[in-house]
Amino acid sequence: MDEYPEVVVEISHLRHDQVFHYLAPEEMPGLELGTRVLVPFGKKTVQGWVVGFSAPPPGVTLRSIESVVGDKPDFNPELLRLARWMADYYLHPLPEILKLMSPPEKPVRARKHAPAGGMTLTGRPGRLVLNTEQTVALREIEAALRAGGDARAPNGEGAGYPGGAGQQEAAATSGIALPLSAERPLVAAGPWQFLLHGITGSGKTEVYLRAAMTALSLGRQVLYLVPEIVLTPQAGAWFRAALGDRVAVWHSRLSRGERYETWEGIRQGVLSILIGPRSAVFAPFKNLGLIIVDEEQDASYKQQESPYYHARQVAAQRARDNGAVLLLGSATPSLESYTGARDGQYRLLRLTRRPQGRRLPRVTVVDQKQEHDAGHDVRFNLVGQYLAGQIALRLQRREQTILFLNRRGYSPIVFCPLCGLVLKCERCSISLVYHRTTGDLRCHYCNFKRPLPERCPGCGAAGSLRFLGTGLQRVEQMLRRFYPQARIQRLDFDTTRRKGEFDRILDSFVKREIDILLGTQMVAKGHDFPGVTLVGVLDADIALKLPDYRATERTYQLLAQVAGRAGRGRVPGEVVVQTYFPDHYSIQTACFAGYPSFYRQEIGNRESSGYPPYGELIRIRVAGEREQQVERRVKELAEALAALLLRPEGTRQVRLLGPAPAPVLRLQDLYRWQVMLKGELGGQKSEIRDCIQRFKKNTSVIISIEVDPYGL
Ligand code: ADP
Ligand code: ZN
Repeated sequence: MDEYPEVVVEISHLRHDQVFHYLAPEEMPGLELGTRVLVPFGKKTVQGWVVGFSAPPPGVTLRSIESVVGDKPDFNPELLRLARWMADYYLHPLPEILKLMSPPEKPVRARKHAPAGGMTLTGRPGRLVLNTEQTVALREIEAALRAGGDARAPNGEGAGYPGGAGQQEAAATSGIALPLSAERPLVAAGPWQFLLHGITGSGKTEVYLRAAMTALSLGRQVLYLVPEIVLTPQAGAWFRAALGDRVAVWHSRLSRGERYETWEGIRQGVLSILIGPRSAVFAPFKNLGLIIVDEEQDASYKQQESPYYHARQVAAQRARDNGAVLLLGSATPSLESYTGARDGQYRLLRLTRRPQGRRLPRVTVVDQKQEHDAGHDVRFNLVGQYLAGQIALRLQRREQTILFLNRRGYSPIVFCPLCGLVLKCERCSISLVYHRTTGDLRCHYCNFKRPLPERCPGCGAAGSLRFLGTGLQRVEQMLRRFYPQARIQRLDFDTTRRKGEFDRILDSFVKREIDILLGTQMVAKGHDFPGVTLVGVLDADIALKLPDYRATERTYQLLAQVAGRAGRGRVPGEVVVQTYFPDHYSIQTACFAGYPSFYRQEIGNRESSGYPPYGELIRIRVAGEREQQVERRVKELAEALAALLLRPEGTRQVRLLGPAPAPVLRLQDLYRWQVMLKGELGGQKSEIRDCIQRFKKNTSVIISIEVDPYGL
């Protein structure tokens, strides 16, 4: 029987991976797997991809593929397998996953591009002598790399894990015993997946760099994932200094030509290392041997729009399929990853000390309530008396200070005390934030802007509007008033909009042209500033108040990361944390007890409440312009799901929560309701998907599924 191309097409309500057979016209001989094509579908022409070849069901009349898009397939077989895995895991239609993973378009006129420039190097990378902990960690990773390189499955069929021969050989050559028992299947993940838990400043980057060099020397490529915002240029510069122009950096500011060239370089194997944020996980590697996920707990690895994937999970899958080593690194591992290490899924490597015996900073937790009760000058507002004194001391000594507040703008709430009106976004159920530098009100969810009105829109009173709460701009204004001599710089989304501004600000901070750097979580990440001896956290509780089961974890992570910025140089640092909940375990453990202690308490809470990593969580959202319609549809959907879950064989513990309005009910003119499924979903996932997929037909509401949802 003849085999014909199977094509998945971009039609939203079809079963998630439904394929259609087409005829390949004569002028398309050798049509390959992964090729993008245009095909007739009903009365239309739609885009699709060739995902297989098989005999069509009897009796159907095949139509012809109209044309092929591009001069080569979009995907190799490995990437197609990855797409199928994602479609299954994230309960998402395959064509939309393929669209997400699509390679950059070939520019009309391809030019050669010089690699994008990096920033000033801050003391790196020398030929450092690794300390004992770094050496031990590196040895284990290298042993796995060597084993993987020797015994890689030829084409990644199935799990594609390196076999036993390679493992034993590696154990013999490196002198490290890898666990290898007869009962354990050889595809067991353990020895090939690592969690490098190293406190901030313990020298993880150095371990990544050496591991990458080893992978390269074994002829294999390296994917180095970094959190979104800004780490890319810095990491790129370090790696390029060490490894030359085989290193490519993937980021949002690349031109179309640069994107195309980078993908091509990776595909052809000319480029050996790709550094980038989550979307780099889809690069068409030829011979991937190592995937590093730096700051693996970072929320930016989770795409917050459809398709909702998590780059760490995708990376793990790719590593498995390629026989590549997976190296997750963090000072504050995610609960998921640390649990994986506890349960033997990852091998835990630890860095517990800073090189050259640099001391960890001293931490002072300041109870903001007590400061208030003590009746200190209210002008101190968010910078309390103790912290203000410490800042003054640093200014005197010409040392640098970082202040952290995760709240942009001048004031988060604008209201009228006469009529009680709070100014809200026209499109979202969210208060508008006053921005003093531009004199306008902004919605931080949809970017809606309006000028600050002179009269209250509610009662019409002139000049009645007041500002409630403090954002970064207000703190900046106050600091300038108190310390007129100090050189103060704000670092947030608003001051770094222009290309190059972020690097410029960090550069001048490194050169000590700034005394106080005041910023959002941008200041918390990865940078190394030897001149900083004081870090102040102005309001440690912001994340804690969010209605999210990850709120405590986020609070811990942010505090630990920010605190890690102090005392990187010769002078020991101090961290001041201002909070209304000084006894809360996320604050106590971040400041004093450390990660294992935090983990023990938090994992207990997750277990008793059944949240991940205990049990799965799926969030289904229904959104639409008419709230009644949204409510009606979400209730129907919830009933259908409940019926599905209640079936007699469904004896597993699955709970259906809701339907309920989303925490932010209205967003960009759409009302959103949600249903959550929680528990051991296991084999029922595909039924759940099919059930939801049926609801997508003939409806004007938007239905989205998030597996392992993040945020609100
Ligand atoms: P992390 O990524 O774990 O927060 P980094 O990799 O940024 O830490 O390292 C912190 C600092 O320690 C850097 O300045 C780095 O150059 C330095 N460092 C790392 N390893 C060593 C070493 N073995 N000897 C001396 N200095 C080191
Ligand atoms: Zn809005």
